[in-house]
Amino acid sequence: MPIFQGLSMCSVLGFPVLVRGRETGFLLLENRLIYAAFSADQVQRVSMLAGQLAISIENARLYESLESKVAERTRELEISNAKLAALRSIDGLTGIANRRRFDEMFAIEWARAKRNRQPLSVAMLDVDWFKNYNDHYGHQAGDECLRQVAQVLAANVRRSGDLAARYGGEEFVLIAPNTDKDSVQRMAAQICIALKQLELSHALSPYGCVTASIGFANIAPTQQDISPDLLVKQADEALYRAKQQGRNRAVA
Ligand code: GH3
Ligand code: MG
Ligand code: MG
Repeated sequence: MPIFQGLSMCSVLGFPVLVRGRETGFLLLENRLIYAAFSADQVQRVSMLAGQLAISIENARLYESLESKVAERTRELEISNAKLAALRSIDGLTGIANRRRFDEMFAIEWARAKRNRQPLSVAMLDVDWFKNYNDHYGHQAGDECLRQVAQVLAANVRRSGDLAARYGGEEFVLIAPNTDKDSVQRMAAQICIALKQLELSHALSPYGCVTASIGFANIAPTQQDISPDLLVKQADEALYRAKQQGRNRAVA
């Protein structure tokens, strides 16, 4: 062997390192100064050392694989948690934000509007004569109709920071931060027009197609004593007036 080339004398002691009977390493001791350097006692101690080395190697490998498994499972858990968190905020039928998300965002936006002394708008939308729609076309068609309404809403709520959510049943809600009354009126009127333009047949509506009524309200929550519920209440009252005035319209 080249490593022994040029040596006049040398003692070598070698032991295979066996992990579960498989040779995974080789322990080599050498003494380049004398012949027969290793005594029987030393041979026995080196043999024990090789055994301990085998155990350490196996432990290190086990630990490494365990560590990578834990890291992998942690990553998987993080992904599932993120998916779950997203699902918590989504309405199962329409795929847009749900009531829980609305409540969370409304509290956040109310606080922000108060801090920045900016106006905050809320619009409540209710599908017109929807009980009749279900009675006439069936519940499944009713569900599909709600999905279409949600799509119209999502398509018309485009400013980042705005939120469209299903409030419950055939009612939807919009939050428009830092939006004045004229802007929210334009947005609400456009939603009514876009929904009517879909021309989803509604035989029991005087309009002949699916329409919705929207009530909206706008508040600058600067005063300490204004409750956020007031804004939703005002939008709800406006919705009631929109219904009374003939439906298929946006009313402040
Ligand atoms: P209005 O114009 O005054 O709003 O009349 P409306 O018939 O829409 O109002 P009403 O509150 O009497 O009826 C709401 C209907 O919405 C009743 C209910 O069966 C239906 N609805 C609520 N949630 C769902 C749903 O998830 N799927 C379906 N298909 N229908 C629903
Ligand atoms: Mg309703
Ligand atoms: Mg309705």
